Amino acid sequence: MTALASNASASNSVASSWINGAPAQTGGGSFQIVNPATGAVVTEYARAANVDVDVAVAAARAALPGWATATPAERSAVLAKLAKLADEHTDLLVAEEVSQTGKPVRLAREFDVPGSVDNIDFFAGAARHLEGKATAEYSGDHTSSIRREAIGVVATITPWNYPLQMAVWKVLPALAAGCTVVIKPCELTPLTTLTLARLAGEAGLPPGVLNVVTGFGADVGTALAGHPGVDLVTFTGSTVVGRKVMSAAAVHGHRTQLELGGKAPFVVFDDADLDAAIQGAVAGSLINSGQDCTAATRAIVARDLYDDFVAGVAEVMGKIVVGDPEDPDTDLGPLISTAHRDKVAGMVSRAPAEGGRVVTGGTIPDLPGSFYRPTLIADVGEQSEVYREEIFGPVLTVRSFTDDDDALRQANDTDYGLAASAWTRDVYRAQRASREIDAGCVWINDHIPIISEMPHGGVGASGFGKDMSDYSFEEYLTIKHVMSDITGVAEKEWHRTVFKKRSGLNH
Ligand code: NAD
Repeated sequence: MTALASNASASNSVASSWINGAPAQTGGGSFQIVNPATGAVVTEYARAANVDVDVAVAAARAALPGWATATPAERSAVLAKLAKLADEHTDLLVAEEVSQTGKPVRLAREFDVPGSVDNIDFFAGAARHLEGKATAEYSGDHTSSIRREAIGVVATITPWNYPLQMAVWKVLPALAAGCTVVIKPCELTPLTTLTLARLAGEAGLPPGVLNVVTGFGADVGTALAGHPGVDLVTFTGSTVVGRKVMSAAAVHGHRTQLELGGKAPFVVFDDADLDAAIQGAVAGSLINSGQDCTAATRAIVARDLYDDFVAGVAEVMGKIVVGDPEDPDTDLGPLISTAHRDKVAGMVSRAPAEGGRVVTGGTIPDLPGSFYRPTLIADVGEQSEVYREEIFGPVLTVRSFTDDDDALRQANDTDYGLAASAWTRDVYRAQRASREIDAGCVWINDHIPIISEMPHGGVGASGFGKDMSDYSFEEYLTIKHVMSDITGVAEKEWHRTVFKKRSGLNH
């Protein structure tokens, strides 16, 4: 492929699936996107039907040979242009993200959108560094080399909490590696994923390389995860659904990559900077209204600091401004839906029966939309629901520990293993915590920051495989060993293991 086809820009004013480089007419009826802060309808979009998944996968399959054989420089140029366009469309992406998720505009403008642009930019550069290991002779009679090849057509399913970032984390390494993609964003939040696809077309991504099917998990998601025409299924979402996706892909023996739920421990040792730990616990538990898979949810605090930590967190939580996400002064927006808010409220209301003490919050503010107050539950039991289950709301639970062994035991006493943090000024404690806590990421004296150059992904019930960084390429590339004879002889030494008598053909 010498020149990448250009794709005419198309209006995205009516939201619909995006297939083969253009808005698609699909057969799944329509669905309304509701602003969780107000309950008002943001827009309506056309849902895809299962047959549209077939069309999208066929488009991705047809586009694969051209995109997979584009030179790294050609792929890189398109992705670099996409990063530039996404940056130029920051206002649109922020507005879409805020209206469909209810997240505070400060978070969208300072985290979601610039983080996504940086990630696109990273993969534009990384697309040119996909070389295999150097060629060498390992057997003496052969030269071995490694080819890293695009795995093929990638099916991707994403959640509602960070719609743009989650799409970028999956789509960009796939495109950089030479794969083509069909993505199904969450039915509640498809807007920024559709804009990403439209901008990719404007950047010169050939039609069919990135396709978006809009719709629900039960139909379109199931059809995509179990589609015989894809080569890899990547998923970000809940552990329950992730396992369904894995089962659907397993029917065809397809590879999966799963980024699932979390229940991050936040371990505060007795030598920690208490102010930093309090500040970090509030920020780490309330980011995105706690709808963050890496959010601090289980504070595990040294006995000596426990009362001061609880009092400090409650005081700072009490100052959090809850309200209109469009207002730059707002700290905490609504939860994604009233159904989800009611689930969070239900879990908090059951906590006292299991020993939990609601220190602050635990109530629904008198606001339209699906808001919930920042909530701190102290003294939670080790087996209690709020301590063990993912809440995915602005709720921090706290327990104390007796000694370092107990702290690390409690940190690991969970099925999840996505992220964790340890707060200490002792370098040896920090080293021990980073070694012994079972999680894909351990922060020391911070909780939440991510960076394009470093991997994100969990262990245990949090899934497997990596997003972001060069490590994510391992998901999207297959490794092929090419072994070439360098002796030029007909009767090779190893043939003696198959037939004993020499054939006399060795000339
Ligand atoms: P979810 O599992 O309910 O839905 C995720 C996606 O799967 C959506 O697009 C949905 O439509 C689709 N889906 C639902 N049922 C399906 C099925 N049977 N087959 C195929 N697809 C189906 O998750 P959610 O509520 O959207 O997001 C919240 C969850 O995502 C939390 O558990 C959170 O921890 C997790 N999450 C994890 C990460 C991570 O990196 N590990 C990041 C963000 C969110």
